Amino acid sequence: MRRLRVGVVDLVGNRPTSDPWNRVMKPNFASIMPQVVAVWCEQMGHEVAFTCQTGVEPLERELPADLDLLFISAFTNAAQRAVAISGQYRAAGTVTALGGPHARCYPQDAARYFDYVLGFTDKALLAEVLGDCAPHRPLGLMLSAKKQPPQLPGVRERWKFIEPTIAKAPAVKIVPMIGSLGCPYTCSFCIDSSVDYQPLAQDQIQEDLRFLLGKMKRPRVGWHDPNFGIRFDETMDAIEEVVPPGSIDFAAESSLSILSEPHLVRLQRNGFKAILPGIESWYGMAGKSKTGAAVGRAKVDKVADHVNQILRYIPYVQTNFVLGLDSDEGEEPFELTKLFVDKTPGAFPAYSLFSAFGQAAPLNLELQREARVLPFPFHFLDNNHAMNVRPKNYSWSRIYDHVIDLRRYSFSARAIARRFAANDGFLTRSLNFVRAVSTEGFGRIRHDTKIRGLLESDVSMRRFFEGETPAVPAFYADWVRRDLGPLWEWLPAGALDHDPNAYLRSQPGAEARTA
Ligand code: SF4
Repeated sequence: MRRLRVGVVDLVGNRPTSDPWNRVMKPNFASIMPQVVAVWCEQMGHEVAFTCQTGVEPLERELPADLDLLFISAFTNAAQRAVAISGQYRAAGTVTALGGPHARCYPQDAARYFDYVLGFTDKALLAEVLGDCAPHRPLGLMLSAKKQPPQLPGVRERWKFIEPTIAKAPAVKIVPMIGSLGCPYTCSFCIDSSVDYQPLAQDQIQEDLRFLLGKMKRPRVGWHDPNFGIRFDETMDAIEEVVPPGSIDFAAESSLSILSEPHLVRLQRNGFKAILPGIESWYGMAGKSKTGAAVGRAKVDKVADHVNQILRYIPYVQTNFVLGLDSDEGEEPFELTKLFVDKTPGAFPAYSLFSAFGQAAPLNLELQREARVLPFPFHFLDNNHAMNVRPKNYSWSRIYDHVIDLRRYSFSARAIARRFAANDGFLTRSLNFVRAVSTEGFGRIRHDTKIRGLLESDVSMRRFFEGETPAVPAFYADWVRRDLGPLWEWLPAGALDHDPNAYLRSQPGAEARTA
């Protein structure tokens, strides 16, 4: 095989931003798979240029223009940026491939703009792409391994790509590690609910931790496991064997069902400083919350007690919610969340709007069959800038009223002050304060208020939201143009549109009902 010049882009940001939260944290949201692909390409003898794009660095300064093959990894909200970059490089003779969540969610659409669209990617599949490395146009090849790879290159092998990435973070630097793939729970909206749970080798984890201890003074590690601690004792045994107490700080996403008090004691002893449990809804997801038959107010009481208990052991707690699920109706779910905010002043509430990402989750088929999925440009599909599922039990005006009210409550001066007082330590306090007053708190209140106003004043917005027309309103098109800047000229005509029912259409014999 000839030695190829390969580029790997981890598209973490979808626009230039000077927002303080993004500037401080974006490099810490780098993905693991682009680093893995870069390592495997080098192991197969190719020359690799790697960049993590947080939205502020010019791509041309970080990547040569004369590549043979360019891999881009993107979440859906960076899809239009990825398409434009692909267009620019394809025009210069480069073959392009898309991986990451967007490729898994919207492969049919991505095939219009990339020569390869990669689902589960293992080393054998990568070798196939590198061996072929040819243009596939007008439609790219959609390839996927049968399942996730059994093992991944560790931190030592990925270090040459991790180091320049975390160097972009001005203060808090978090090294991405992973101990398992998939999840045994079956939350119907989640991309990991249909991926078999698979622990990765413990000796690899130990080797990574030892390596880091030799590289950094008191490293910070962010576990990228979809649900950390499923095999709790095994994982903690592995950590305890190699990490002296207090020498590494850890952060992880985990279910409340895993975070029992004995487990919290052990997590605290082993340096876990941030935990992000998913609550999602007061009317569902009881299994992962371990709340049994409790719903509504009873669940709030139970979960609030549990989260306050977690806060006694772990200083930084983010609680995740999904707003507008079909199980929610009326103002009660929002009022209950406000009550929860009052009862757990130390936790940071993170809200997502109910969204259906292509073929990410089994539930999406049902939503597409009911013609409830709207073709919002991908650029806005980040669980917050748009809700692409028409709510079952709310009008658009009502749900935006509730969401704005809840955000205002959660990020009011009173709530911010109570959070500040309830939190321990400079880092927790300052992270929560910056999050509240920048994009995530105040920024989303401003955004939702703007959308709510346009629903009243802009007929094109109203008709689009109601599913009466697929024509993307000028408000959104102009926004993408501004965010892409010079890359806009590389976005092909029609690339703001997509078929929101592509998953359903890919099923034999299935058809979407019209709205
Ligand atoms: S517990 Fe979390 S990771 Fe697992 S399926 Fe539910 S939302 Fe996804």
